[in-house]
Amino acid sequence: MGWITVLPPERVDLDSCVTCGLCLPVCPTYRLTGDETASPRGRLAAIDAVDQGIAPVDERFGEIIDFCLQCRACETACPSLVPFGRIIEGATAEVRAQTPSVEGRLRRFGVTTALRTIPLLRSGAIALGLLQRLGLASRGLRTIPLPERSARGGSWGPGEGPVATLFIGCVADAWFSDIHQATIEVLVAAGYRVEAPSSQTCCGALAAHDGFIDGAEKMAEQNRAALRDAEVVVVDVAGCGAHLKDDPEFGHKVLDVTQVVAEAIDDGRLPVLEGNGELVAVQDPCHLEHGQGIIEQPRTVLWAAGYDVVDADRGGLCCGAAGTYLVDHPDTSSELGRRKATAVANTGATLVASANAGCEMQLRRFLDDGYVVRHPVEIYASSLAGEGHMSDD
Ligand code: SF4
Ligand code: SF4
Repeated sequence: MGWITVLPPERVDLDSCVTCGLCLPVCPTYRLTGDETASPRGRLAAIDAVDQGIAPVDERFGEIIDFCLQCRACETACPSLVPFGRIIEGATAEVRAQTPSVEGRLRRFGVTTALRTIPLLRSGAIALGLLQRLGLASRGLRTIPLPERSARGGSWGPGEGPVATLFIGCVADAWFSDIHQATIEVLVAAGYRVEAPSSQTCCGALAAHDGFIDGAEKMAEQNRAALRDAEVVVVDVAGCGAHLKDDPEFGHKVLDVTQVVAEAIDDGRLPVLEGNGELVAVQDPCHLEHGQGIIEQPRTVLWAAGYDVVDADRGGLCCGAAGTYLVDHPDTSSELGRRKATAVANTGATLVASANAGCEMQLRRFLDDGYVVRHPVEIYASSLAGEGHMSDD
């Protein structure tokens, strides 16, 4: 047994790195610094040394691990299929366990308790919505509807027909309810009955990425009880979907909403709508592209919505949002955000499609006021309803 004990890596996974370096060009932190310890290969070497008891879990190890965005671009590039996401989650958990701090305890509360506290999230959403109307809220958040509209516990569509269980999450339900509303409208139009069991909770991705594995596991248990009887679990936030797909009990039933909608378009249950040549730029969230291997489906959805689709930054680096990364490493996060916004601006499109709420917030921070950022399914729902061009309110 190795020295990493909270979520230990498999020795075979660590040994499968052949140090070829093919992951280096796709790694944002390596590209920005040129530092081997900020590369996937360097991080694996550091984890290997700790796991073999050659090096300690100390402050330097914590820095090496925490500087990783967990974007998993290295996983996609790696010819040896090193499961980097799982390995880095284990290393992060070890850092949290062996270097406890007051800040760590606060973070644990934030990502394991606050995100599951529905009344707190709802109050926060209402307060934020009021601040936005007074012009006091910062950039990065879409306008929160008032009164706040939760999908929690709801049921929509025909009594008969296939049931799609909507994963509503935590922040997404409180602050991105427009995305859920669009998902519900499009799924019902495709013939689904949509249900959103109220007993589900936060997906636990932020807790797991931040190394609080026990908190993430508690959330997973609650979600298993809520979702185990579902036929299909539909997720409209890529970060949540990538995490839920790894669940050993119900992960095989989880689909991103763009997968479900693209399939319904392909088999004729949803129409291909007429367009007028307006451009939309597609941003590929890491947790959709690298975490779920989904690239074509958002493009199908946008094409069927009547738009000319352009790639914002195909094969590019992470946008720098990455959960709590923008708080921990604001300079690196901002540099990556600026690069992504420049790539979007270079497309000439002012409508931007992103299938992940965190990426959307990051894009909004760095794009000028003239841009509109929406989930691909919101754009399709708007075309389906005959509402024409999307605005930002
Ligand atoms: S691409 Fe894979 S095998 Fe090659 S150095 Fe990176 S992690 Fe190791
Ligand atoms: S997950 Fe992203 S930031 Fe971390 S090592 Fe891999 S490519 Fe680099």
